[in-house]
Parts: sequence; C-alpha cells; structure tokens
Amino acid sequence: MKVQTLIIGAGAAGMMCAAHAGAGVLVVDHARAAGEKIRISGGGRCNFTNLHCAPDNFISQNRHFAKSALGRYTQWDFISLVDAHGIAWHEKTLGQLFCDTSAKDIITMLRAEMDRAGAQLWLQTKVESIRHDGVDFVVSLMRQDRAVTVTARNLVMASGGKSIPKMGATGLAYQVAADFGLRVVMPRPGLVPLTFADERFKPLAGVAAPARVTAGNTSFNEALLFTHRGLSGPAVLQASSYWHEGEAIGIDLIPGTDLLTRLQQHRSNDPRKALTTIMSLYLPGRLVDYLAEGFALTGTMADQSDVRLTAICAALQDWQITPSGSEGYRTAEVTIGGIDTAALSSQTMAAKTCPGLYFIGECVDVTGWLGGFNFQWAWSSGWAAGQAIRQA
Ligand SMILES: Cc1cc2nc3c(=O)[nH]c(=O)nc-3n(C[C@H](O)[C@H](O)[C@H](O)COP(=O)(O)OP(=O)(O)OC[C@H]3O[C@@H](n4cnc5c(N)ncnc54)[C@H](O)[C@@H]3O)c2cc1C
Repeated sequence: MKVQTLIIGAGAAGMMCAAHAGAGVLVVDHARAAGEKIRISGGGRCNFTNLHCAPDNFISQNRHFAKSALGRYTQWDFISLVDAHGIAWHEKTLGQLFCDTSAKDIITMLRAEMDRAGAQLWLQTKVESIRHDGVDFVVSLMRQDRAVTVTARNLVMASGGKSIPKMGATGLAYQVAADFGLRVVMPRPGLVPLTFADERFKPLAGVAAPARVTAGNTSFNEALLFTHRGLSGPAVLQASSYWHEGEAIGIDLIPGTDLLTRLQQHRSNDPRKALTTIMSLYLPGRLVDYLAEGFALTGTMADQSDVRLTAICAALQDWQITPSGSEGYRTAEVTIGGIDTAALSSQTMAAKTCPGLYFIGECVDVTGWLGGFNFQWAWSSGWAAGQAIRQA
C-alpha cells in the first residue's frame, strides 16, 4: 500500500498533524483506541492548554526551539478550535483550561478533524520495521495479525515518550531517530513524584500544604503533598522536571511570609503560648507534630531567642532534603529529553539530514510544565509538521 504520509501514533500530536497534513494520510497506532492519554488526562477533563502559554514554560536543551511552532499555532488557535466544536470549558487555576464535561470531547473533536481531512486510522497496528529505499519510507506493519507493507513519502513519528508503559508507551521514536542517525537527548521521567527510600514521610501521607519547591534554579509555588513513599503535589511534580538524582530540593513551607518578624510579634503578644500552637497557625497540625520532632520545636514563645527563631525560620523556609529517586516512568506524566532539537527544523519539525522524516509531540526534546503546556506543544508541533507536509 502506498500513502503520501504515514503518521505513527494516534495521540495528541499525531491526530493534530493528520488533520492538517493534506491528502493521503494514514495514522497507525498499536493501541485499541486513539488518544488514550488525552482520555485520562486532567482527571478525565483534559487540561488542553494554558492561557499563559509561552516558551519559558518549556524545558529543552535549546530554549528557543519551541518558539516558532508555539508562536504560529497558539493556545488561542486551539481554544478557537474547541469553541468551533461547541466544547464547553473553564479555567481552573493559573490559566489552566479544562473541558467542562469530558476529555473524550477533545478526542471526538480531533477524530472529526481527521475525518474532515480524509485521514485514515488503523488501530491495533504494530510497527515491525522502518527503512528508507532512497525515495520512500518502507514500513512493515502487523495489522490485526496481518502483515502489511506501507510505502510513504513522509514519515511522522508521533509515538510519544516513555511515560506510563502500561498505556502503550514504547520509546519507538528514539529508536527510529537513532536508526536514521539523529542524536537523542537522554530521556528521563518528568512531572513525577519524588521518593525517599526510608519512607520518612509515611506518617504524613495525605497531608497537603502550599509551598515553594526549588530544584536547580527553578522554583514553583503550588501545593505540596506528602505521600507514603515521598513527596508529590503540583509543586513537587513541577520541580521534579528540574531535579537530577543526588541533588537536594529546597522547600519553603511558609512561602511569601516574613516568618521571623511574625514569630517575634507572636513572642511579644503571646509569650506563654507553645511554639507548636503558633506554628499551627501557619501549617497543618499533623505537619507541625512531625516537624516538632525533627526540628525540636519545643517550649513557649517566650523561650525562643532571636537566634533560635532564625534557625527555625531557616529550617521551615529553606528545608533542604535529597530524594533518593522518583516514581519513574510508571507514573511520570511526561518524558524529558528526546530527539535533539539541533537535528530538527523548528519551523517544520523535519529532520535536517533526512528529508520527509518528522518528529512531533513528546518524543522531541521539548517538555512543558504541568498545566496544559504539554498538550499545547503536541498541538503546535503537530500543526507545524502538518502544514509543512501539506505545502511541500
Ligand atoms: C496521567 C497523565 C495525565 C496528563 N495530563 C495532562 C494534561 O492534563 N495536560 C497536558 O498538557 N498534558 C498532560 N499529560 C501529558 C500529555 O498526555 C502528553 O504530553 C501528550 O499526550 C503527548 O502527546 P503525543 O501525541 O506526543 O504522545 P501520546 O499522546 O503519548 O501519543 C503517542 C501515541 O503513540 C502510540 N504508540 C507508542 N508507541 C507505539 C508503537 N511502537 N507503535 C504504534 N503506536 C505507538 C501510543 O499508543 C499513543 O497513542 C498527561 C500525561 C499523563 C500520563
């Protein structure tokens, strides 16, 4: 069978690309349904973009690479598409847009756009091998236990990253990149809970608090959640993308507060109150009990010298701890790293050294923050490749 364009992966980026790549498009996916990650995203409501989406919300070895695609197919373009399909949405927090009803609405919309463009979709189709015969890509597929060879002028890799293997993530795009001589930036899990081998936070499992979590030079002010195995919540998930094994993270448990001045005022106004009682004004009770042991939060306010209060503030507002690891690809929302952007055109997502080969979405070394940025990258990069193919 001969097609103009073969897209591998019917996820967010692949479906978007298929809707824009012109005639003769076939999309294949080994899963039983298209857009499985869209379906489970955002707690079933899909955080499909972010009002404040900008290149600074992405991690990549080349922080300029994403600018072109994000600038040409913006969050406003995707919102217009969602509106045109009559899908109701709302802003939850920090510019994050979610469907009012169900993430399935986004899948239905993308399938409709694919149908309108005349793209074919083959599900439960495995990729056996990929080669280039000098003119076309020759791809051997196993479609529902039948071998099929497809030749295609363009091959678009939209097979995502390595996160959540249970959902069919394979890392195929990295293998294809390597086979065609493209460098791959070492993939690692991102937006992932951090773990501590000694399970030190087990007694706090379920406790949440607003916090400022810092990894490397980047900080996030959002909720922190203690878990049986370590730390999670948006602030930690965000910071995890900047964390490398062996490094400490910094936690400010009472962000944006001049705690020393406040504690000195409490000492003057409530000298007989226990330090832990005062701390409970700022932190959940269970967390105060836990910290009281580790940080020796004892005595009344009158007992606390300025030196002691300064030490307490440092402990609570610049708490340095070193995770032993992360939950890994099993639960990571994204894969950081991927196809080196130096090998790709930022305008078209095409491989510079292999005409007709494109990489889009999560498999590229562009990773968004939590909050709808990763889908926006999938839409923008998928659109950029689709446009380029249609106009070629
Ligand atoms: C639990 C969870 C929640 C998330 N929530 C959000 C959110 O609310 N907002 C947000 O912006 N991002 C979210 N993300 C991230 C987002 O889902 C991804 O960044 C996005 O789906 C990437 O799109 P993609 O098309 O590149 O890859 P995917 O959507 O992963 O699609 C890849 C497709 O390729 C197929 N495939 C893989 N390997 C093969 C192979 N060997 N052969 C054939 N087919 C193959 C897969 O079956 C899949 O259909 C979430 C991720 C997870 C895991």
